[in-house]
Amino acid sequence: MARAGAGRGTMITPTETDRAVERPSRTWLDAALDLVFPAICPVCGVALGAGRRDPLCGACWTGLERITPPWCERCGLPFLSFAPSQTSTMKAGMCQGCATDPPAFAWARSAAYYGDRARDAVHALKFRRKRALAKPLADLVGEQLARWLPDDIDALVPVPLSAIRERERGFNQSALLAERLGHRLDVPVRPRWLVRTRATQPQTDLSAVERRANVRHAFRASPGGVSCLARGRWAPRRRR
Ligand SMILES: [Zn+2]
Ligand SMILES: [Zn+2]
Repeated sequence: MARAGAGRGTMITPTETDRAVERPSRTWLDAALDLVFPAICPVCGVALGAGRRDPLCGACWTGLERITPPWCERCGLPFLSFAPSQTSTMKAGMCQGCATDPPAFAWARSAAYYGDRARDAVHALKFRRKRALAKPLADLVGEQLARWLPDDIDALVPVPLSAIRERERGFNQSALLAERLGHRLDVPVRPRWLVRTRATQPQTDLSAVERRANVRHAFRASPGGVSCLARGRWAPRRRR
């Protein structure tokens, strides 16, 4: 299955010469602005400083706890999370849950543990409307997972918000992340392929079991999404 990309409209991008001319002036401008209006990290409130990944400061960026292999080949649960009793399924490359009761999805991965910093960054994006955080958070996903993704992805499909919540928030954070990630991976984003059929409770204070119950039957594939899925199940492959 070919990846989307061929046949798209022409995209005008700066030439290398443009970039060479542009880079010093931008750097100078950023430095000058930082002197007058120091850029502040929306997560921890300190000046961005060395290692910054705007708008995250260097400490918050490096403090995100990345998830790396080994992990369950199916759901991505890191092996560090396995209990000693699960050693046999670890050897088979799967966690006990996937080995005994396989999930409906074929492949899932997470970029980082949901530790204090990741939680604070996600909450700032969602609840304090710091939408610029979508940039470094999508980059985190891309940097951590790009080489493990299948080569034949048809599209990125963000999880839709209810109309009321999207109106209240002013954006769908999942769509912001998908846009940035899709650009990075050169994969189209299809926000209408998944449809929310009902509003759900906020997941924040719910347990894992309650979260699953909360979103059960809350989404359905749109005809466009169904026609894509009907083309066949893709087999995940590692990128080189
Ligand atoms: Zn910070
Ligand atoms: Zn698993």
